[in-house]
Amino acid sequence: GSSGNFFVGGNWKSNGSKDSVSKLVKDLNSSKFPSDVDVIVAPTFLHLPYVVDNIDPRYQVSAQNCWVGKAGAYTGEIAPEQLLDLGLQWVILGHSERRSLLKESNEFVGEKTANALAQGLKVIACIGETLEQRESDQIYDVLDGQLSGIADRIADWENVVVAYEPVWAIGTGKVATPDQAQEVHAYIRKWLSEKVSSKVAGATRIIYGGSVNDKNSAELAGKEDVDGFLVGGASLQAASFATICNANA
Ligand code: PEP
Repeated sequence: GSSGNFFVGGNWKSNGSKDSVSKLVKDLNSSKFPSDVDVIVAPTFLHLPYVVDNIDPRYQVSAQNCWVGKAGAYTGEIAPEQLLDLGLQWVILGHSERRSLLKESNEFVGEKTANALAQGLKVIACIGETLEQRESDQIYDVLDGQLSGIADRIADWENVVVAYEPVWAIGTGKVATPDQAQEVHAYIRKWLSEKVSSKVAGATRIIYGGSVNDKNSAELAGKEDVDGFLVGGASLQAASFATICNANA
């Protein structure tokens, strides 16, 4: 596994109202987890100011996307410098929902990653194959392309966490088995070692996402190359999320 802290991100996606977000923040503020676990929450852009101002500083805050350049005439977009100005540290890039629904390419995700890092954000970079790609033995070609899109455009991986999220496991209740996750995480670490450096491979957190919940997180966390989780659905329930944050304890 990585030499870094265990890492758990909660991706709230396009969920939440003023009421539900304030309740979730209140519940998260009273949740317990070890101080050496990095816990990140990613609300919608709309809820970011409230969350940044009201969540306990044990949590770090992330956006779910950002613009590929500086602030300016880019209607509807939000630039990394604006996220930093608000007081958050992280952004999720390349989530499969954006790759598929908004047609974000490997190159575009790589450009966004480079831009976000250059402006000072940390990046949770998501990769993962569809069921069709897995079943037709394209999984490693797909992952290579997604990783290269990023690796070709950045030099410093210190502020990058790689999230392996098989698309067939996201929001489906069909979690990867611990062995399936371990196999791919080990592949990603080997890829980093060969294409970037052994130092980067040893230091980069590789986290798993896809139907992680309070029941399956401990067994997944026990796998050598699973350095944490990116959690969707279960991150909206403070009690389940807290259990996941304690999965490596
Ligand atoms: C995600 O979309 O990042 C995710 C892992 O979702 P879920 O946990 O709901 O499968």
